[in-house]
Amino acid sequence: MMPFTYNGLPSRVIFGQGTLAQVAEEVRSLGGSRVLVLSTPEQEGQARQVLDQLGELGGDVFPGARMHTPVETTEEAMRALASLGADGVVAIGGGSTIGLAKAIALRTGLPQVAIPTTYAGSEMTPILGETKDGLKTTQRTLEVLPETVIYDVDLTLGLPVGMSGTSGINAIAHAVEALYAKDRNPIVSLMAEEGIAALARSLPTIAGTPADATARSDALYGAWLCGACLGSVGMSLHHKLCHTLGGSFDLPHAETHTIVLPHAVAYNAEAAPDAMARIARALGVEDAAAGLFDLASAVGAPTSLGALGFTVEDIDRATEIATRNPYWNPREVEAEGIRRLLADAQAGQRPA
Ligand code: NAD
Repeated sequence: MMPFTYNGLPSRVIFGQGTLAQVAEEVRSLGGSRVLVLSTPEQEGQARQVLDQLGELGGDVFPGARMHTPVETTEEAMRALASLGADGVVAIGGGSTIGLAKAIALRTGLPQVAIPTTYAGSEMTPILGETKDGLKTTQRTLEVLPETVIYDVDLTLGLPVGMSGTSGINAIAHAVEALYAKDRNPIVSLMAEEGIAALARSLPTIAGTPADATARSDALYGAWLCGACLGSVGMSLHHKLCHTLGGSFDLPHAETHTIVLPHAVAYNAEAAPDAMARIARALGVEDAAAGLFDLASAVGAPTSLGALGFTVEDIDRATEIATRNPYWNPREVEAEGIRRLLADAQAGQRPA
């Protein structure tokens, strides 16, 4: 057996249907007496539902969370927090809203309860990405890990079909890269394989029957496992490419992950045969890269970067940025291979 190091992350996870009803109890057990509820403008209605559930512990709603955690938004939320005299935050939403809660925790040390409504997985990670003057920087510190995460399947029933598919494959990407991470370990690899399998069997059902509670439960369970993988081990080429495409070409987060993943996997296939076998087993297919491409097609997700507005002319600049400070990767990151990978992803070519 390969030697390994495993770090457990200290967070409390509550999973089920109707679990939002436990939010007041959870806030109280973290010592909260008056909390600020965070959301995007689109999810203010759900945030008000949380405020109602909180009863006397609910202070106010800050419905201003935005993509990429801009520091100006965090500063605005900090002012709302101070004027309320809040002693904790509750975030309801996807990675953008949970990012805001993390940014507040970093600055104040206040406890957070995260209630995820997408499959992105930020709630399980000690990672925070913030944007200042158009520049996104990422840090890893336990100070931003939410103390408590409440997964309530009911809150995901209305996640639009398109976003369910891409967000679910975004989650799968964390598990895929965990299986070939430099610091992979047996526990995280078990979670990764189980997470991929749970999402792969549920996402196509959700695409056809979005309110199927069993499929939604499987998907959220898979997203939890995949988020835990992202929080535990290092990511490689796929995440680097997605950060490049999101940061420098402004491509949307979950869709970009969905399109790039099969191609990043194809690039790494020969260098990580054990990981490929586990991914293929979890998907129930012969070939991991082709299986991921077919899963994206099955959930109706876009399969070409061209469809997101990334052009053939963009390939050289993206290659240059992505290869500048590469993350560790099982296969050497070399420009010609990355250019080919991006060309395939741009065109929406199914990996052979
Ligand atoms: P998001 O949080 O940006 O949400 C996208 C939109 O969907 C928002 O308008 C949101 O309000 C809406 N939405 C969310 N859940 C909904 C639901 N159930 N029903 C209807 N609408 C809903 O999207 P995301 O993909 O969850 O997060 C992406 C962001 O999170 C990126 O900025 C990414 O970098 C970050 N992220 C960070 C980490 C980390 O570990 N730090 C991990 C994953 C993602």
